[in-house]
Amino acid sequence: MARYFIWTIGCQMNKAESQQIAGYLGSAGYQAATSFSHADLVVLNTCVVRQSAEDKVLGTLALLKGLKSEHPNLQILVTGCLVNSNTQELRRRFPHVDLLFKPGDYPELIAWAQQQGMPIEQRLPRYARNDRRLAPSPCALIPIIQGCDNFCSYCIVPYRRGKEVSRSVGEIVCEVEQLVRQGIKEVTLLGQNVDSYGHDLPGHPELADLLNELSSVDNLVRIRFLTNHPKDMNLKLINTVASQNKVCEHLELPVQAGDDDILRAMRRGYAVEQYRELVNTIRRKVPQISLSTDIIVGFPGETEEKFERSLSLVQEMRFDVVHVAAYSPRPGTIACREYQDDIPAEMKKKRLNKIEELQATIAGEINSQLQGRQEEVLVEGRKGGKWFGRTRSNKLVFFEDAGNWLGQLARIHIEKTSPWSLGGEVKK
Ligand code: SAM
Ligand code: SF4
Repeated sequence: MARYFIWTIGCQMNKAESQQIAGYLGSAGYQAATSFSHADLVVLNTCVVRQSAEDKVLGTLALLKGLKSEHPNLQILVTGCLVNSNTQELRRRFPHVDLLFKPGDYPELIAWAQQQGMPIEQRLPRYARNDRRLAPSPCALIPIIQGCDNFCSYCIVPYRRGKEVSRSVGEIVCEVEQLVRQGIKEVTLLGQNVDSYGHDLPGHPELADLLNELSSVDNLVRIRFLTNHPKDMNLKLINTVASQNKVCEHLELPVQAGDDDILRAMRRGYAVEQYRELVNTIRRKVPQISLSTDIIVGFPGETEEKFERSLSLVQEMRFDVVHVAAYSPRPGTIACREYQDDIPAEMKKKRLNKIEELQATIAGEINSQLQGRQEEVLVEGRKGGKWFGRTRSNKLVFFEDAGNWLGQLARIHIEKTSPWSLGGEVKK
């Protein structure tokens, strides 16, 4: 029996696409291997959003070169954001790679597999399938819009994933119904810019319309979506989060910086005050909302004063989660062309740590308010002898119990809290 191993790095979209690739390979009779060395075919699903991710990808490609020299029949496939129209150059640099295909370009994968004589299924819907044998979790990731039209000055994604292309409402509803029949209880709708969903479709359905449609899918329990761009979030969407029971009270809403000059240089399309008003509106309409954000520190021209504005925005907003990244110049982007990467690495690191420390205190305080409360947890699996799952507000919860809770909704009495997770007991 032939075996495959998929190595994935980067965002949720990559994770979703790896599940789809696993589905295709499964249809060709391949089984999952536990490591590179046990596989006949490996797929590298890559990320180049920051240099550190790209370095890991290059390191893994080098490792595979060695492995292929020992096992010449090993087939190596590379996809993800490393690959775009630069395939000729990549082929020259990495002659040991058998196939390079752009993110989501499954026709290319299928054509190659057919050439190899693999009996791969062709009629799978382009975006289909989360293989439940590989991921027995009750949660599925569903890409609903590919690409990004925004061209934030620091970001490589639009150059690698192309323009925004939405899937039709009907196709998504059909996929979700099929997954629910297989036991899925929660779906997370994915897009680099998920709240601009539908603008390219006939009749311009919005994300809110899709959420309403999905809310009527029987036995689907929870719906999430990410990542939102603040400039595309409208009142209709906020009202839908407020009114549709299945839509969880959790939003990923990256702000990126707390200074207007930096936001302008980043080409984000909003000022701090607009972001503040948006958050106020969301909190007024959905008081129990949990908010996550992304912040970049050390963007070119970020003086101490400008950085302090990001720090005080974090203090003021009291987000549930903050993902901080040090600015990494990406060749080909506007920021890389127009601005000098003038903040030293140590300074970036110091600023990153400062935000993380502040956020750990804030998250610790927010989470401690849950102590003694009961939370509904959808159980996703086991780790270290404990069950784990998430609350509607996306907080990770661990608990011990002898029963089989996989895929169940558990009422958990919260007994322990930390900035990163909660612990408790089943309320019977
Ligand atoms: N589309 C989302 C948005 O509008 O924020 C996020 C997608 S982006 C691929 C994921 C995160 O990576 C961004 O929120 C940003 O914080 C970070 N990021 C992107 N480019 C970066 C860069 N050049 N340096 C550091 N962080 C970067
Ligand atoms: Fe990158 Fe900006 Fe698009 Fe997000 S919205 S993927 S940060 S260009």
